[in-house]
Amino acid sequence: MPTRTIELETYTIEPLVDAEGAFFPIQVVFPDVPKEAWEHYRARYARSFAGSDFLYTYVTCYLVRGNGRIVLVDGGIGPGPAPLFGNARGALLDRLAARGIRSEQVDTVILTHLHPDHVGWAAIDGRPTFPRARYVTSRTEAETFHRPDVREAMQALVPGYLETCLDPLERTGVLETIDGETELAPGLRLAPAPGHTPGMVRVEITDGERALWIVADTFTHPVQVAEPDWCSAFDMIRELAVATRRATIDTAARGGIALLAAHFPPFAGTLERDAERWVWRGSGA
Ligand SMILES: [Zn+2]
Repeated sequence: MPTRTIELETYTIEPLVDAEGAFFPIQVVFPDVPKEAWEHYRARYARSFAGSDFLYTYVTCYLVRGNGRIVLVDGGIGPGPAPLFGNARGALLDRLAARGIRSEQVDTVILTHLHPDHVGWAAIDGRPTFPRARYVTSRTEAETFHRPDVREAMQALVPGYLETCLDPLERTGVLETIDGETELAPGLRLAPAPGHTPGMVRVEITDGERALWIVADTFTHPVQVAEPDWCSAFDMIRELAVATRRATIDTAARGGIALLAAHFPPFAGTLERDAERWVWRGSGA
């Protein structure tokens, strides 16, 4: 899907789709939600469904440029083939190249969280893919993905990815961890968004009059803006994921903050009222 560059005063944000497709049955990702509950949302979010039984999922990374910085947000599924994603091969490096960006020009790689579809390109062949970048994630997240139970669960999901994608960053000393809200550059900061994973962060860009948040997997499907209580099977701490969704909706709606989410169609969207619920309306929709 073509994407649209978002131009603020200082920063430009370019969604880069690493992979997209009908990767997951709805009932696998949302086992607790009855099938008929989806019907109300099919027309509004047609780009996020595939047939009657599958979600259509985007895996989006973001190139953020401004203030002399070249920042990559998230690392996609990686070179693949990725069995969890229909044996797709990620397109991130091609998409960067198409914008004239070489790996060594990236100065910062933000890893919002450490699930396999967000760190796939972080390292290749035991070395950081972006050789001059500092990689940033939260300390809570790094510690979580060292827990034996978490590593075991991740090993079952995508065998070997932590060894391939994360361990080289730690071994070479390029992974930096942050605590709490952290400013990376003027108008560009990270803020905790826990629940989907214990240490997930979002990227908050405040630029002139406008604000835009890259919320990672706070929502994995746009329907969750209207139904924040619906948890995906990948939400690690469900009550906290729900609380973060509710707080995000509340703040974004009140502040007119545009939201980008990794698995939504690759556009910024604002929240609009539809009867008693909020809905996400993408600018490319
Ligand atoms: Zn994800």
